[in-house]
Formats: sequence, C-alpha cells, structure tokens
Amino acid sequence: MIPEDFLHYVWRTRSFDHRDLRTNKNQPVFIEKPGIWNHDQGPDFSDARVKIDDVVFHGHVEIHVQSEDWYRHRHHEDEKYNNTILHIAHTTNGKPVRRADGTVIPEIVLADRIPPSLLLQYNRLQLSQDEFPCSKLINQVKPIVIRSWIDRMAVERIEQKAAVIQKRMDEANLDWEQLLWEELAAMMGGPVNKEVFREMAQRMPHRILRNYVDEPFQLEALLFGVCRLLTGGKSFDIYFQDLKKEWEYLAAKHKIELPPPLNIRFLRMRPAAFPTIRISQIAQLLMQFPRFTDLLSLEAFDQFLEINITTSAYWENHYRFFEDKKRSVKKLGKSQKEILMANVILPIAWLYHRAHGRNHLDQLVENGLTRLSPENNRLTRPFMKTGISNEHAFDSQGLIQLKKRYCDEKRCLECGIGGAILGNG
Ligand code: SF4
Repeated sequence: MIPEDFLHYVWRTRSFDHRDLRTNKNQPVFIEKPGIWNHDQGPDFSDARVKIDDVVFHGHVEIHVQSEDWYRHRHHEDEKYNNTILHIAHTTNGKPVRRADGTVIPEIVLADRIPPSLLLQYNRLQLSQDEFPCSKLINQVKPIVIRSWIDRMAVERIEQKAAVIQKRMDEANLDWEQLLWEELAAMMGGPVNKEVFREMAQRMPHRILRNYVDEPFQLEALLFGVCRLLTGGKSFDIYFQDLKKEWEYLAAKHKIELPPPLNIRFLRMRPAAFPTIRISQIAQLLMQFPRFTDLLSLEAFDQFLEINITTSAYWENHYRFFEDKKRSVKKLGKSQKEILMANVILPIAWLYHRAHGRNHLDQLVENGLTRLSPENNRLTRPFMKTGISNEHAFDSQGLIQLKKRYCDEKRCLECGIGGAILGNG
C-alpha cells in the first residue's frame, strides 16, 4: 500500500499530473499554493490556496490513502478540520467526505496521476538494504545539490545540539558564563565522568571561580575540594595537604557547605585523561579565558585551538594524588579541544549570537567546523566510498547528521538528495 508520507511528498512537490485536474464533482481545480506541511497534530497542510471552479479557497488540505480514512480518523467530528478546503486521497470509495458541520469537502483522487517512475524510485529507496538507501543512485545527483544538502545538515546538527543546551539553560535559569562553565566541565569529564563533572560545575559556580582566575592553586583547591577529593590523605604529600587547607579556608570564606562525595571514576580510561588531570587542565582553562563568553567569536576559536592547556606542576609528576610518576607535561590534546569546540563552544556560540540578534549563523558554523578535523567512522565512511568528500568537521558533522537522522530513518522524502533522485532536486 502507498504510505501517506509519500502522498504528502507528491502533494508538497506537486509531483503528479495536473492536466485537467478536477474534483470528484468534476469541478476544475488549480493549485495556487499547496500549503505548509504540518508535522504535528491537525490537518496535514495549512495555509493552502486552491481555485475550484474559479473560486479561490484558502485553508487546510488533508491527505489520506483511502478517502474513508477521513472517517476512520474521526475528522468528521473534529472542529480543527472544519477549515479543510480540499481532501486528497489516493483512492476513493465514492462517498463524500464531510466536515463536522456536515458540509462536503471537494476531493481529488491521485491514483492515476502519480508517475509510475516516481513510485518505482521511491520503492527502491524504501526497500534498499544498502549502507544508505540511495548509495547506488546518489551518483546521478548533481554535486552541488549533494554539497548544499550536506552543508545544511551540518548546520542542523549544531542547531540540534544548541536546542538541547538551550533547554538546560532555561530549566536551570543559567547565565551565559555558568552555562558555558557547566557544559565545558561536563564535556571535559568524558563519557565516564560527564555528569559528575557537570555536578562539580553546579556545586562550584563560575561566579566564585572567576575571583581566582589568576590563582591556579586556589582554583584547584576549590575544584578538588568540591569534588571531595581532598579528604583523608597522607601527611607527607605537601601539595595535597596545602590544597586541603586552602579548600577549608575558601569553603568557609564562601560559605560552601561540605558537599557529599561525587562518584568520580578512574576506570576504563587512559591515565592522561584521569579526572584529576582534567580538573587541573580545567583550572588552566579558567585562567586562560577568565570570561568564557570571550570564547564565542571566530577569532577566539583560533586562539582556543592554538593555546596550550596543561596542568599545574604537581600533575606533571602525578596522575592521582600521592602516586609519584615519571615527569610528563600533560597537554589537553587537539582532539579533546575539537570535541569541546564542536559540542559546546559552537552550539553555545550559535545560541549566544542568535540571542543577540546577529545574522549569518550558518557561516559561523561553517567557519567554526572547517577549522576542525574530519571524523572517519562508520557513519561517514559509506558516503566517502561513493566519492563524497570529508575534508573537515563541517563535512563530517553534515554526513553524521544525514546518516543518523535521515538515511537510517529512511526520511528520503524530506532529504534534498532524495528530492533530486525522485526528480524534484
Ligand atoms: S536520506 Fe537522503 S542521502 Fe540518505 S538515503 Fe535517503 S535520499 Fe539518500
């Protein structure tokens, strides 16, 4: 059976034979505007304009596979459908379709008007078992169409990340500095300690930390202290004992109640990514960018990617407290900085600039992501095999979004590349 989604596509893109288009009452129809596709509850298209028998109607269009679905879905009892000006069905049983007020809605039947080749291509996409459904068809699409759709996907991916962050910002009523602080801290926690690092940032707000942006020792005392990593301890480790004393002093000064321990984990990670090392690097990051909102410009993107973020001297000889190791400088790696850029700084920059009424946000995303390395993984590789380029993160973020959110969900009818394959690109 033909799916309703396909009929929506056919209507939206007018991919059917319009010649001598007539209603079931043999009235001539001219479509001025198919309307705005509605993805939520309510009629399928709103704000449509159609001329029927020389009278222009303005309102909703509802689409069904069979005309009797109108009654099955109980639209004849629903006042939301009273402004339906046209009913579209693939097939009809010949019975009139009526609004809740009893009036009859003009109907168009599409069964004989859809080109068989369109249905054939659609079925090929839907039934494909390939790594992505159009992998054998994509080469017939113009490169410019593919490129602009992948670019759009990269922007959409950043927008979706931004929407998640915006929700957290609204729910917790955060200002920009605290938002950046919490998101950066959470991302620095890595997959294992993401949520506990977020909690660390909530317990130790940025408004306290910013008083110590020239004092790495105090910053470490506050961060290790609030995580409860300064309890107990062996007396011969002078750095630990000094941090502990400083934490007790600062906690009293800022009236910070002794919080319960955080469940910080050291398992299943490289020593260089241990939470202790990350906390010391966070203190350095706080020093390098005393105002986190300074990170949200293109110039700052370059600065952030270029600067060295290391640890305090103690952590050059340690991975955990008390355990003396061979000296090594522990720089925050390029890949970790790129993760922070793609997942925190760029989405928040997008939100921040939008909130300040600035335009050209697509360019901001493009400029930001083209500075970062591409990802070569199971999501990007299928496209690369067909010759699609993946030169930087703007490409790979677009490809990841396309694969996860469109190809894997078979949303070919909503995809620009799918539109070109079906003849509307
Ligand atoms: S969603 Fe687009 S790119 Fe993916 S398989 Fe369908 S048509 Fe191709």
